[in-house]
Amino acid sequence: MDSEFDLNNFDFSDILFQNDSILADKTPEEMKAILTDYYSDLSVKKLLSKYDLDVHPSVFPQSLPVVGVETKCPFDGYNMYIQLPSKTRQDEWNKKMFCLECSHVIYNKEYVSLGYKCDCQRCQEQRDKLIDELKTVVIENNVNQSKNAYSTLSIKSILNLACLLQALRAKSLIDVGPYDEDSEDPDLFDRIQELFHTGLITPSENSSVDTFSGFKSGDTTYNFYPSRAKWNIWVKDDRLNEKQLFEILKNPHPGLDLVASRILCK
Ligand SMILES: [Zn+2]
Ligand SMILES: [Zn+2]
Repeated sequence: MDSEFDLNNFDFSDILFQNDSILADKTPEEMKAILTDYYSDLSVKKLLSKYDLDVHPSVFPQSLPVVGVETKCPFDGYNMYIQLPSKTRQDEWNKKMFCLECSHVIYNKEYVSLGYKCDCQRCQEQRDKLIDELKTVVIENNVNQSKNAYSTLSIKSILNLACLLQALRAKSLIDVGPYDEDSEDPDLFDRIQELFHTGLITPSENSSVDTFSGFKSGDTTYNFYPSRAKWNIWVKDDRLNEKQLFEILKNPHPGLDLVASRILCK
């Protein structure tokens, strides 16, 4: 849609009223004449008396119809509509179009960038499907990465893991976090980056959806924000069960305590 609001771009044979409207009995020609005057410099009061419309000026905008536009609904092929804007909101006329058949809404780019999204049933189903697909890809990528043996960890890694598990109050080796910027450990985010780059933690498929960006159906990899992810600890030890390994990683050998406190591990 063009961004300038121009009545000439609309087809006045395809209009509908959402409320009881004072304009409902007008022909398309009468409608266009009234609206042309409405969006001109003429005051609403003068407009109403010119066309003998018995309605209070302040509620007149509620009488404005929805008008069909050329765009078709991607789900059912019916025409999309826009609500004609009030005189003072003309620049927002194209913020959204909607389908009267299935309630699908298309927001303009500006509104999309502000986070507006359609909540119609079809869009929600598509989002749910995409989330399932994303989770599958995250799980597959993790499974393809072998876990690190506990015995091979450096002291620094052990400290970083202990600080991570303690700072984020982990209860197990999975779904740790997400990162807490109010953590008392000023190096926590650096630890997370380092642990991730050395393959000792992997993003969890149970991270919130906004952790991942731009994922499309059919993608086999994903982008994500490390500050938003929940993490799985990618360490194993054949002699220990998960619970024992977790306890050791969260509270490493007492001999390491001094070093840990020196690097502000809480
Ligand atoms: Zn539709
Ligand atoms: Zn929708």
